[in-house]
Amino acid sequence: MPEIIVVGAGQAGASLTARLRSSGYDGGITLIGEEPVLPYQRPPLTKGYLLGDMPLERLYLRPDSFYAEQDIVLRTGVRVTAIDPASRTVVLGDERLGYDQLALTTGSRPRLLPESAGGTLAGVHEVRSLQDVDALAPGLDAGARLLVVGGGYIGLEVAAVAAKKGVEVTVVEMAGRILQRVAAPETSDYIRELHLAHGVDVRESVGVERLTGDGRISGAVLTDGARLDVDVAVVGVGIAPETALAEAAGIEVENGVRTDAFGRTSVPGIWAAGDCASFPYRGVRVRLESVQNAIDQAEAVADNMAGLARRYDPVPWFWSDQYDAKLQIAGLNSGYDEIVSRIAEPGRRASFWYFRRGSFQAVDAINDPRAYMVGKRMLETGKTPDRAVLSDPDSNLKAMLR
Ligand code: FAD
Repeated sequence: MPEIIVVGAGQAGASLTARLRSSGYDGGITLIGEEPVLPYQRPPLTKGYLLGDMPLERLYLRPDSFYAEQDIVLRTGVRVTAIDPASRTVVLGDERLGYDQLALTTGSRPRLLPESAGGTLAGVHEVRSLQDVDALAPGLDAGARLLVVGGGYIGLEVAAVAAKKGVEVTVVEMAGRILQRVAAPETSDYIRELHLAHGVDVRESVGVERLTGDGRISGAVLTDGARLDVDVAVVGVGIAPETALAEAAGIEVENGVRTDAFGRTSVPGIWAAGDCASFPYRGVRVRLESVQNAIDQAEAVADNMAGLARRYDPVPWFWSDQYDAKLQIAGLNSGYDEIVSRIAEPGRRASFWYFRRGSFQAVDAINDPRAYMVGKRMLETGKTPDRAVLSDPDSNLKAMLR
């Protein structure tokens, strides 16, 4: 009986194993995860779960019974310490398991502040796992002073939840503007206004020199010399793909575990999907950090492990919830040279459309699900929206799909 082992029991690992079964693969499947819990979804960690609106059970991707019913051996709380491609085995401490095919779905890990900058003081948190959020939540009582280091999606979502809870929030972003890496100035402006309206102190072009405190954080010194009193800090300065296991096994790594369009790594019989994997996308190599990618790439890899030859060619999408605003993004905006704004309702509903040399790349839609849907559909069908239609808020966007 062929044996498939999947290392990493997060969004991609859970999707991959479920897909193997639903598409009829009847060999052995073992899903191994380091975290001591059932596979769960991460997005609510900085949204409903942190706010206290969503119970733990709703984070789980499937109930415990699913894995037994599907004959998937789920081993949680177990770290894979090495892979030996020559003997096709994985090592879990003292134990070795043989595989015919292996998938790496090891995700990513947050970048930390170094100890010399106060990164290891008590009260300084990163936000990647359930455990991280359970450790952070009790510190977010009304009146507490929270410093968010990094104005990316994770930091801003935490800021929004904390502000809602009555926490005094300061966001410090070293780049010229929040969301600089991922969004247009127009989107950053919109999101900044949202936070300012909720009383968050947003400081851009300013870094953290160091966090201070005697064992526990009590302050911060910023690169402009400002000093802040701080009770709790969240560091959201990006993530790095979890590739150590692959590298040690001699698997090629290039901004993540390098795969081809089918999810194959450089080592026969070993595949990769999700946050940890980079793959060819429209002439460039990309690595995506999203639920859409984790699910769709994992499902493509499952199909390919079962013998199909399915190219993974996604239209990426992503979302972020902050206060009552929903930001939805379709496509990848990298290298854009033009933005067309559609302000459907000033200060409330807007979309920003990205072009590169005249070709449509992506859309950011704020509280505008129709704009998002139309943009995504156009990307899927390779159409280019008419700029005059886009910039007229009274025009019928859907008509462009005909
Ligand atoms: P993960 O879900 O991170 O799973 C990887 C798993 O592998 C982990 O459990 C890890 O412990 C395990 N592992 C690693 N190494 C080993 C080993 N050697 N042995 C055993 N196990 C191992 N995306 C969106 O699209 N929209 C959002 O709104 C959004 N919000 C987010 C909010 C937060 C707080 C976070 C952290 C992420 C968010 N994301 C969001 C991103 C999304 O959750 C990730 O892209 C997705 O979880 C990636 O899935 P994955 O399976 O590749 O990695």
